[in-house]
Amino acid sequence: MNKYRLFAPGPTMVPAEVMAANASPQLHHRSPEFRAIYREVTDNLAYVFQTESDPLMFVSSGTGVMEATVANLFSRGDRVAAVVAGKFGERWRNIGRAYGLEVLSYELAYGETTDADAFRAWLGKQGDVKGILLTHSETSTGTFHDIRAVAEKVRDLGPLIVVDAVSSLGALELKTDEWGLDAVASGSQKALGCPPGVSFVALSERAWKAMETADLPRFYWDFRANRKQLEAANSPLFTTATSVVCALREGLKRVREETIEGMTARHALLAEATRAGVLAIGCRLFSKCPSNAVTAVLPPEGLDVEEMRKIVRKDYGILFAGGQGEMMGKIFRIGHMGYFDRFDVITAIAALESVFPRLGYPVEPGSGVRAAQEVLNA
Ligand code: PMP
Repeated sequence: MNKYRLFAPGPTMVPAEVMAANASPQLHHRSPEFRAIYREVTDNLAYVFQTESDPLMFVSSGTGVMEATVANLFSRGDRVAAVVAGKFGERWRNIGRAYGLEVLSYELAYGETTDADAFRAWLGKQGDVKGILLTHSETSTGTFHDIRAVAEKVRDLGPLIVVDAVSSLGALELKTDEWGLDAVASGSQKALGCPPGVSFVALSERAWKAMETADLPRFYWDFRANRKQLEAANSPLFTTATSVVCALREGLKRVREETIEGMTARHALLAEATRAGVLAIGCRLFSKCPSNAVTAVLPPEGLDVEEMRKIVRKDYGILFAGGQGEMMGKIFRIGHMGYFDRFDVITAIAALESVFPRLGYPVEPGSGVRAAQEVLNA
């Protein structure tokens, strides 16, 4: 028997209290009980996003609300710029193209991060750009992008600042209002430690203004209609995933208890310990600027990554994520966000120490665990 351990960068492990809430009796989405829950969850999401405005919730994964954000903010033919440095930057670009926008790609090699000055210099030469599409934590390469610095640098050029915070909300410092971000999209199944199924978006006054003239088609996803319903009745515009919202309520209570600052500090510590652990057993980091949500690991030269992941899953019950696209077979990724603690780091590193010798890569037992412990106990 093995315990199943989901060490992927989303979906992530869900605490028992949250799962129990997910299984509570079915509520009607227009009942007074559910409206009170919907209000509470909205308020707590505003806390997590660090915004004074009400974030909107939708029944979808993160990509759904990213797409909806594009559909609500822009018009056909608008020029937008996407930072493309991994699979999720590519997703922004592809969504923009699918909606008939002219997407300028600011391309970086996988694993690189955005240099705010260089990006500003490039953007300044592109003429009228209505929006920039950023990824805070590029999950595919395990990279942190300093969106705060980018937002600051490009402010005078006036583009709407649109952020994919799917894997960063709750894991990395993120201050929607203070940093002047116009649309920030995220989902339930990452650092908030809830089941998948509900996505959310926080929007600035500038974003609401842009929606008045944006002409891309939307109906179910119409942010303005959704906001109207929320303001009028504290309820979703259409039937929502009531069970996931109930789970989210429980998950967000836990966030409140830990505080957002406590949560991001925990993620920073666990990420640092994970990095120390993998480096001590002969691995390297794929990213030039690692994210505290996920570590993308280059294994020792020649080690069969996919075989390693298979053994770890079958024999130890642990799921590490592989590489996406061209990175498949080259890297693996350890998600350390959400319901993940210091002994999960130890378990992850111990599993690698156990499996590497089985694939012909000797590791001194305890060397990675020791390095991780040194960080955790400092
Ligand atoms: N952006 C980022 C940074 C992500 O990590 C993910 C999920 N891995 C997505 C977008 C897409 O989210 P979803 O799978 O929930 O649609």
